[in-house]
Amino acid sequence: MKTLDNYFNGNREISAAAEHVEVVDPATGEVLARTPLSTPAETNAAVQAAAEALADWRRVPAPDRIQYLFKMKVVLEENLKTIGQTITRECGKTLGESIGEMRRAIENVEVACGIPKMLQGHISEDIASGIDELMLRQPVGVCAIIAPFNFPGMIPFWFLPYALACGNTCVIKPSEKTPITMDLIFHLIQSIGLPRGVLNMVHGARDVVDGLLDHPNVKAVSFVGSTPVARTIYRRAAENGKRVQAQGGAKNPLVVLPDADIDMAVRIGADSAFGCAGQRCLATSLAVTVGDAHDAFIEGICEAASSRRVGYGLDPEIQMGAVINHASVERIEGLIQAGVDEGARPVVDGRGAVISGYEKGSFVRPTVLLDVPEGGTIATTEIFGPVLGVIQVDTLDHAIELINRSAYGNQASLFTTSGASARKFRYEVQAGNIGINIGVAAPMAFFPFSGWKDSFFGDLHGQGADAVDFFTQKKIVVERWPKDWTRQF
Ligand code: NAD
Repeated sequence: MKTLDNYFNGNREISAAAEHVEVVDPATGEVLARTPLSTPAETNAAVQAAAEALADWRRVPAPDRIQYLFKMKVVLEENLKTIGQTITRECGKTLGESIGEMRRAIENVEVACGIPKMLQGHISEDIASGIDELMLRQPVGVCAIIAPFNFPGMIPFWFLPYALACGNTCVIKPSEKTPITMDLIFHLIQSIGLPRGVLNMVHGARDVVDGLLDHPNVKAVSFVGSTPVARTIYRRAAENGKRVQAQGGAKNPLVVLPDADIDMAVRIGADSAFGCAGQRCLATSLAVTVGDAHDAFIEGICEAASSRRVGYGLDPEIQMGAVINHASVERIEGLIQAGVDEGARPVVDGRGAVISGYEKGSFVRPTVLLDVPEGGTIATTEIFGPVLGVIQVDTLDHAIELINRSAYGNQASLFTTSGASARKFRYEVQAGNIGINIGVAAPMAFFPFSGWKDSFFGDLHGQGADAVDFFTQKKIVVERWPKDWTRQF
């Protein structure tokens, strides 16, 4: 059984951890590797390596720093399929979804290659007679990146390329449930020749995270995960004087108006609700049908849910893979039951799924619940599985009011052919990512990955210009060079 190594100062380091977490293929039940719950000394060593590499790395000119990113892009592209297969094996999603995930990772590397321009400051001449004022951007220092299980390849790249391009050094802590993808990526990108200590990795769970949050040499923390943990991370890192961006959970609604292209709403809605087995932070988990849209949408979505081919993600025929583990199956099925107890009707019931040949796997088939009470479990709780609750309302105003009551604000979608309805939705809905006839409104890498309310704690988001602001500190210089100091040559 392979135990994963930590990685610091350019070397793989065998962990002295006394405890480990098994990494299990969610479809087959096979144990793929063991994640060490690294010791405090190892967390410290990773941060120390990053801290020592900082002085030289920040002096590498930005146009030279991005040469490593160009090479990184090539290595990731050349190994897209292998990385995709690894994601599928440890995470359960389909190979197409895994490769799509890595394309989004690569997109962030590409955008960060524009750092020589994005890093520019500005200057005002003569703010007073003979005095100039400059704004420079300088790196923040050692940055910690803490990732969730569901996009083990993409999410670290919302931060990593920008942090490095801006002249920072990094310590990455992958999810203990899906750490093999990052292990592979670290192995592959060794060939790009980053200076020692610039990029480090320490495996573990809560204790390692706490060690990073409390370490005086860590200056910035980028976190993605569930809302309760995001809130804790934000508080603890901020108390320790660090800058922090913490992306949390979600409960994403999709509103269907009577004038919508219903076939499109069904097709895209099903992909959003059941793609990645519902384990996307931008997955739709609540459909709000307005007036006459209801019957046709329900008919279509129930057909799409019950006909979705569920199984092993590496099987090319499969449309939906496993959820992450047995505990997750139990949790999802428990939430469905809680909904049923509150009066919801499971018109497509994915509980008790057994997939032939994969009996040890963690599967829940697509599920659709009607008559969901507005304030109930299905309407308000992040389920993080292939479960779609449906609520019927009479007006768009009611739908918007329902959305804005949610504690979360990651994404909201509207299906309509009316520009005026679309504008009203965009204007009034309290969510950081809006989809108009789009089911997964995932921002491209040159836009911030937004999120409002309990879906995000902080000010600056991941990706694009926000990332450059997050990973740099601004320095203001006010300078005077009196004329009579001019030498005559
Ligand atoms: P999680 O919160 O359980 O874990 C995330 C990370 O935090 C992991 O690295 C884990 O080791 C660490 N961690 C867990 N508990 C901790 C604790 N008590 N103290 C410190 N660190 C701790 O999340 P998960 O189950 O891996 O991922 C799924 C969640 O992530 C969902 O809620 C999903 O919505 C969310 N997510 C959000 C986004 C977004 O952009 N907003 C993107 C992807 C996933």
